[in-house]
Amino acid sequence: MSGTGRPHGMQAMVLTAPRRPLSLQHLPIPVPAPGQVRLRVLACAVCRTDLHVIDGDLPDPALPLVPGHEVVGLIDAVGEGVTLAVGQRVGVPWLGWTCGTCAYCRADAENLCPAARFTGYTLPGGYADYLVADARYCFVLPEGPDAAHAAPLLCAGLIGYRALRLAGVAQRLGFYGFGAAAHLLTQLARWQGRQIYAFTRPGDTSAQAFARELGACWAGDSTQAPPQPLDAAILFAPVGALVPAALAAVRPGGAVVCAGIHMSEIPAFPYRLLWQERQLRSVANLTRRDGEAFLALASQVPVRSTVTCYPLAAANQALEDLRTGRLHGAAVLLPTPAGRPAAS
Ligand SMILES: [Zn+2]
Ligand SMILES: [Zn+2]
Repeated sequence: MSGTGRPHGMQAMVLTAPRRPLSLQHLPIPVPAPGQVRLRVLACAVCRTDLHVIDGDLPDPALPLVPGHEVVGLIDAVGEGVTLAVGQRVGVPWLGWTCGTCAYCRADAENLCPAARFTGYTLPGGYADYLVADARYCFVLPEGPDAAHAAPLLCAGLIGYRALRLAGVAQRLGFYGFGAAAHLLTQLARWQGRQIYAFTRPGDTSAQAFARELGACWAGDSTQAPPQPLDAAILFAPVGALVPAALAAVRPGGAVVCAGIHMSEIPAFPYRLLWQERQLRSVANLTRRDGEAFLALASQVPVRSTVTCYPLAAANQALEDLRTGRLHGAAVLLPTPAGRPAAS
């Protein structure tokens, strides 16, 4: 699978052990196996889940690991039996492989497949110049936003969309944590005619202003109560203490949806916060159907992402900026364009 005229190596940011900075390594360019495509990565967004993988919050990453699961790239080689073609622009999401035969897979719940493998966690991810992926789990990306702006749609967007779907027909919708997912979902929810209430870290007036710019009708601290009870709330921030806060903010019969893969301990709370048929649930992963539905909607709206771009080698800085909330929207890593020296 050589003959592209490029050097045989690629750059990648690699996790060698939990709680260590990623290291820039020179690795062989992977070769697609049957059923796989190889992408030349154009952009890879940085997700909070990457922080949980790196911090050791999620068990058993496939070390040494290239993180990253919001990947946009151009197919530059295909394995046997693949119908996608060289030159197509595709996205690679978190869900990288499922068994196809278990009860979950057969019941349109492949997101819960116990054998599932995940990009940038148990499969190699997109913090690299090249990536191989199972073609059946790649999304062909419509024309539209460039790679850097399309990348955040692949997790922040589509797992956010699954959370929005599970929140039901809520008219007054609260978002706790106004990062990459909330900034995309606000646009979609506004287009659907809903009202958005944005809750940020206490005192983060710049995130609150950003939320209002995107159409939130109210923005304030997560410690505040909304001006009126919410129909539903989605928690994007991985902070367990927000669960009782969000339950207190929703009306009887309302729903609180936890959208993250990891959360700090949820403190004990009085039953009256759940009483009156309030629902509390989580969202895990995505199905390919979620992805197709969201990507179609996102281009119809259209949903526009706000991004801060970093060179691939600055992945640790991007992760730190995400951790401290120093950026609006999504952080995106850009590999060195092919044929140009690696300096930036
Ligand atoms: Zn399965
Ligand atoms: Zn993610």
